Amino acid sequence: MKETLIGKDTKEIGTYLTEFNEPAYKAKQISKWIYQKNVRNFEDMTDLSKDLRAKLLENTQVGKNEVSLKTASNDRTIKYLIKLEDNSTVECVNIFQPDHQTACLSTQVGCNVKCPFCATGLSGFKRNLSVDEILDQYMLMQKESDDRISQIVFMGMGEPMLNYDNTMRSIEILNKEIGIGMRHITISTSGIIKNIRRLMEEKLQLNLAISLHSANSELRNRLVTINKQNPVYELLRLAKEYANVTKRRITFEYVMLKGINDRDQDIDELLTKLNGIHCHINLIPHNPIYSAEKLDATPMSRIKEFQEELAAKGFPVTVRMSRGSSTSSACGQLSVISGKN
Ligand code: SAH
Ligand code: SF4
Repeated sequence: MKETLIGKDTKEIGTYLTEFNEPAYKAKQISKWIYQKNVRNFEDMTDLSKDLRAKLLENTQVGKNEVSLKTASNDRTIKYLIKLEDNSTVECVNIFQPDHQTACLSTQVGCNVKCPFCATGLSGFKRNLSVDEILDQYMLMQKESDDRISQIVFMGMGEPMLNYDNTMRSIEILNKEIGIGMRHITISTSGIIKNIRRLMEEKLQLNLAISLHSANSELRNRLVTINKQNPVYELLRLAKEYANVTKRRITFEYVMLKGINDRDQDIDELLTKLNGIHCHINLIPHNPIYSAEKLDATPMSRIKEFQEELAAKGFPVTVRMSRGSSTSSACGQLSVISGKN
């Protein structure tokens, strides 16, 4: 099988070159073609000798995944369905904003956490993505975009903190080879304590978003099943420590579900339990999904009220504008079998 170069950094490409008697320094030219110029065809790498291009062509490929479907929303957000080598598919989204573009990347095929309001969770879990499969989502989307995609959010399919090593290695390459600033990268997690602690110890300047959805233990057990092994009181204690150690403000994401976590008592519980944590709350309108369990979205009027009450007590709180919902590419609408929702 041919070796894949996406997923390797310059040093690793250099080591690989020495395996077929080429000097390691040429790796710099190759990684520039791949990561800076987004060239996938060795023939087009014109500053490499013909001989090296031929050797590369014979033994390697730049990327092995392909775009199998591309759907544009009416807000210019584009959802991509990427076909992987084993014929699994994974979704990623190029979110359009007037002044920049953001790549929303997946880290797993499906998700084991199984939050009842999320299409990915309901579609089951197949496997972790490899480093090249995570990175290639960015490379393939960037190739099709006229403007640079300058921000990354790990908010696609899967739980990044349950695929820790590959997610972190992808971030390293996005940062060092592609040049995306750490402050432009956000990891969203349902709250896997052990790996948030590991992340804290790495002291990176990236953004951490924790999908809280409730500060109440019992309710959170139902909304985010991993709460049983990762209890919310411990998670919040760690969030406080994380913000202190990294000097970065944590974002708490909160999907608003009618009559479930949008009550006055939920506001009170948030106020008490988030007190003293350097944080920001992002209220997320629930995007409809196909689900047996009836979960309704909180109406926008109530979301605004909820926001105002938290803000009145001094919490920075925003309401997320949903993008891409006309093509089911908004948060939580990405499922293993495309078109299921
Ligand atoms: N597994 C990670 C990252 C992927 S989910 C996590 O849970 O954080 C990214 C975000 O989408 C999470 O905040 C999640 O709660 C939210 N989400 C999931 N389903 C949604 C839905 N149907 N509507 C709106 N947001 C949803
Ligand atoms: Fe997994 Fe995140 Fe969806 Fe929960 S919200 S099922 S953790 S992808």
